[in-house]
Amino acid sequence: MRVEIEILGSGTSSGIPTIGCDCPVCRSHNPRNKRLRASVLFRVSQPGLPGQPAAETRLLVDVTPDVRIQALRAGFSSVQGVLITHTHADHCHGLDDLRGLYWGGGREPIDLWGYPESIASLKRTFEYIFDLEYDYKGVARLEPHEFDQAAFVVAGVTVTPIQVVHGKMRVAGFRVGDAAYITDCNEVPPASIEKLRGVKLLVLDALRRAPHPTHMSLPAALKVAQQIGVQKVFFTHINHDLEHEAVSAELPPWAGLGYDMLRAAVEENGSITVKEPAPRPNPPVVSW
Ligand SMILES: [Zn+2]
Ligand SMILES: [Zn+2]
Ligand SMILES: [Zn+2]
Repeated sequence: MRVEIEILGSGTSSGIPTIGCDCPVCRSHNPRNKRLRASVLFRVSQPGLPGQPAAETRLLVDVTPDVRIQALRAGFSSVQGVLITHTHADHCHGLDDLRGLYWGGGREPIDLWGYPESIASLKRTFEYIFDLEYDYKGVARLEPHEFDQAAFVVAGVTVTPIQVVHGKMRVAGFRVGDAAYITDCNEVPPASIEKLRGVKLLVLDALRRAPHPTHMSLPAALKVAQQIGVQKVFFTHINHDLEHEAVSAELPPWAGLGYDMLRAAVEENGSITVKEPAPRPNPPVVSW
């Protein structure tokens, strides 16, 4: 099995540039300092039948307010499942835009996985989407499913939830094979570190340099990655304190600042490959 994590957005809740901010990172022309809201796409390839290409299963993690542009620029129009880390606005308030992926997927209901409290919260916030009697055709059909501690299977792919602490709430990280994504946490408890043993590739929350009550700082995140013993970690959910080139130059070779459109994979043979986005000749002002 080959598991790729594509970073759809590497930014904190406000996105970078942040509205109204004229700090050097928000004004930077470097595309790696332009960060949409935090989300990844797992692209999982299982070996196909002899002579046939491996089929790709796409699992979208979170549905940010930027999901439309994230799907367009990453070039996917359907997914086989959506995994919810938690229901803060920067992670879920693009839920209505799943209709694009619903249409792209041939109007098959999309499986939506979350903690029970996350599913309950989405049903309250987006009551009309889950109301099968709702008299408007332009709504995605979502099939909600709950998980807690145990692994679950989405479209033939086993997903292990990793519980982490985000202030007073819990957030789900996700492990698929030897790759894992953990956003929005100030602590990864020991039991979750154990569930992450053997992970080679990790994408992990690191908001800024200084400590924060609900997110990990860069030094704290480096420590967690070391505890797990990963081969490669990329940090995400980054705010405008962290200038891409300056921080990248400080990090050890096994760690990097994540950035939008980065694709990193654990290959069938266990090696890690990284694919950088193709340079664009005329990058627009805000994004890519
Ligand atoms: Zn967040
Ligand atoms: Zn700024
Ligand atoms: Zn959050």
